[in-house]
Amino acid sequence: MSVLFASKLRFFDTTLRDGEQTPGVSLNPDQKLEIATRLAAIGVDVVEAGSAAASAGEQDAIRLISDAGLPVETCTFVRAIKSDIDYAADNGADSVHLVIPVSDLHIEKKLRKTRGQVAEMAWSSVEYAKSRGLTVELSGEDSSRADQGFLREVFAGGVDRGADRLCFCDTVGLLTPEKIVAYIPPLSGIAPLSIHCHDDLGFALANTVAALKAGATCAHVTVNGLGERAGNTPFEELVMSLEVLYGYPTGIKKEEIYALSTLVSRLTGVPLPVNKAIVGEMAFTHESGIHAHGVIREPATYESIRPEQIGRKRRIVLGKHSGSASVEAALHEMKYAPNEQQLKAIVARIKELGDSGKRVSDSDLMAVADTVLAMECRPTIKLRQFTVVSGSNMIPTASVTLDVKGKEMTGAATGDGPVDAAMQVLAKSVADVGDIRLEEYHVDAISGGTDALVEVTVRLSKDGKIITSRGARTDIIMASVEAMIAGMNRLLEERT
Ligand code: MN
Repeated sequence: MSVLFASKLRFFDTTLRDGEQTPGVSLNPDQKLEIATRLAAIGVDVVEAGSAAASAGEQDAIRLISDAGLPVETCTFVRAIKSDIDYAADNGADSVHLVIPVSDLHIEKKLRKTRGQVAEMAWSSVEYAKSRGLTVELSGEDSSRADQGFLREVFAGGVDRGADRLCFCDTVGLLTPEKIVAYIPPLSGIAPLSIHCHDDLGFALANTVAALKAGATCAHVTVNGLGERAGNTPFEELVMSLEVLYGYPTGIKKEEIYALSTLVSRLTGVPLPVNKAIVGEMAFTHESGIHAHGVIREPATYESIRPEQIGRKRRIVLGKHSGSASVEAALHEMKYAPNEQQLKAIVARIKELGDSGKRVSDSDLMAVADTVLAMECRPTIKLRQFTVVSGSNMIPTASVTLDVKGKEMTGAATGDGPVDAAMQVLAKSVADVGDIRLEEYHVDAISGGTDALVEVTVRLSKDGKIITSRGARTDIIMASVEAMIAGMNRLLEERT
């Protein structure tokens, strides 16, 4: 056990409140419940489900999450306003995150009030929330720019009136670890203290760790670091930093981190930066020949944590830097067993592709290997004909004729758009040979312009096996169809 931290640090997740305040993000009550369920399962202590006063939908979400009986404290963001507190209590919240502006800037410019008035508002709201049976976390908005003497007075008065916990909000990301050493200890002595950081200058994680070292016992976090502007302290980064860098056992089910992260990314529609720590696409991807060789022999050579720890897999991407060791490892995973001569030929072709600027995907490698090994290519599914029609006053409809194991199959389906209709008809047409599901769909424009090459990436699953497949074309629908068919063929392949 690390001596730097309190014996039990708590995780207060605000993905569903501050995270949802990310511009453009809106979650419906069912989506919020799905995320809250996963947060409870992974082991966070508190889920801030939303702002009770924001909308009827928010209240439904809070009610839905409270009623689900999850093994987690359900919290709601409230202002120092009676009706906000009533909404929280009436919708079954366990606790309120009662936020009161404490800097003169916020008190004077935003509220047009005095310090004394604001303190009174905070204290009477604490008393009212307690009378409604709620646990109260009294939170100072813009604490980092507040007069620290005034902040202590507001907090101490709040605790006198029944506040259970306090929270220091670095609302616009202006804290430093140095300031934290001065600010936190006088406050953490008053009551259990949370730290709420924003990443405007990239300091959210460092500041959160510093505050936990200085006496805070609870961290406000969001999955993938979502949140207003540049976001909040990322849950996954804080958990792994505490575990790996400080040896602190968080009690979080780390192996579920990646699944949670991808769920949140999918439901919020906010893609993960490819190089994001822990959960970005490239975080466990190796290309360079020498590095990949090292990693295959001993992962610790170029990885600070093992991907399996957070429920991921290492990926070796092939390109011009790839040596024969990484090509061979990738081929082995696909159950190819080339001899030395064949391997050399495959590596040469991969380098050629890499030199022309291509990132070599699994399917590219398979195509190369198939050619080199002169394997008889027998795809299960061949495309005979494909049509999609779409327009302003019709439902997009796709029809397809496939050759599936030598049998001709024709089908049609409608969808939300032409691509969706295309995906639907393909999955429907092969339903007899396998239950193939589309797990993820992603489009990248490789260059600008409407005539640009687009690369479609699909993740397909069948009986627990998941593969990624790509199609590149100037026509987005054909790229989607080709990615889908190539992937389905790999899933249906019975190589011995
Ligand atoms: Mn915030």
